[in-house]
Amino acid sequence: MPTPFLARDLRVIPIDAYIDPPVPRARAIITHGHSDHARSGHGAVLATPDTIAIMKARYGEDSAETFQPLEFDTPLVVDDVTITLKPAGHILGSAQVLLEHQGQRIVVTGDYKRLPDRTAQPFELAECDLLVTEATFGLPVFQHPNPQDEVARLLRSAATFPDRAHVIGCYALGKAQRMIALLRDAGYDAPIYLHGAMIRLCELYVERGIPLGLLKPTLGTTKSELAGQIVIAPPSAIKDRWSRRLPDPVLAVASGWMSVKQRARQSGVELPLVISDHADWNELRETIAETGASKVWVTHGREDALVYHCRQQGLEAEPLNIRAFEEGEDQGDTEEQGELET
Ligand SMILES: [Zn+2]
Repeated sequence: MPTPFLARDLRVIPIDAYIDPPVPRARAIITHGHSDHARSGHGAVLATPDTIAIMKARYGEDSAETFQPLEFDTPLVVDDVTITLKPAGHILGSAQVLLEHQGQRIVVTGDYKRLPDRTAQPFELAECDLLVTEATFGLPVFQHPNPQDEVARLLRSAATFPDRAHVIGCYALGKAQRMIALLRDAGYDAPIYLHGAMIRLCELYVERGIPLGLLKPTLGTTKSELAGQIVIAPPSAIKDRWSRRLPDPVLAVASGWMSVKQRARQSGVELPLVISDHADWNELRETIAETGASKVWVTHGREDALVYHCRQQGLEAEPLNIRAFEEGEDQGDTEEQGELET
């Protein structure tokens, strides 16, 4: 393919706009609301309406000079570049960015997954010449199980220990709402209790059309009220003083990283739930093949194995090594509430 019109720092060269820039830029295209992709302080932000709502809720109404909403699958022509946001299936509003210029097609996936999830618009494949893919779980050992089976294990445990609370460590944006939706879809219709850090984003999902059933704050409840109940909390809260208010809690964490048994054990998690909002190794490889891309840039995660795989398939592939502070499952690091994953 000819020289890409996208630079390695994800600057769209002909229009001088950056995708998910880690520092403030005059023009930014934001794939989704996680803090390693969406920052405050940009000039003009282009994103889906859901992502803009999430950014405003987290960072404030004036966290960019201007916000321009762009619906999915609605091409926007800026000079001689056509920008289309395609659903990424990762969290509410998450998008892949399809860029077209002089016959060349480039897709930047952002974070994505292809498993069904009613809290995110379903992933749509976009064919392209250059694919910039995430690689959070880019190693062959990562093969995510069926999330419904993980939820069934949780519900069996809750039925087995009716005097204990089950507290599930989940990231506040995306994972918490998906966990609640999975429980509802498995027929669990009791109230689900929320740590204070979860409330605002759960409300935002409901306002934007994702029903989550009856949710109650843990604040103001008595210990005995929470016996036999399910509580959603940030991963950091399940191990600190906060969880002492719960009756003999079963500590669970919902994360793709829970497939690493040692990691679950070290962090004292009694009930690890392997529920991920990222593509696993097989999904990553299938997606690369299905896009028809001849060139692949790998970023956000375990680049090396995926680059090696692509080269074996005869594709041009390179790691991008964009490093910033990460959120959610990306590297198991911190998010803004100062919480540690695992
Ligand atoms: Zn993300």
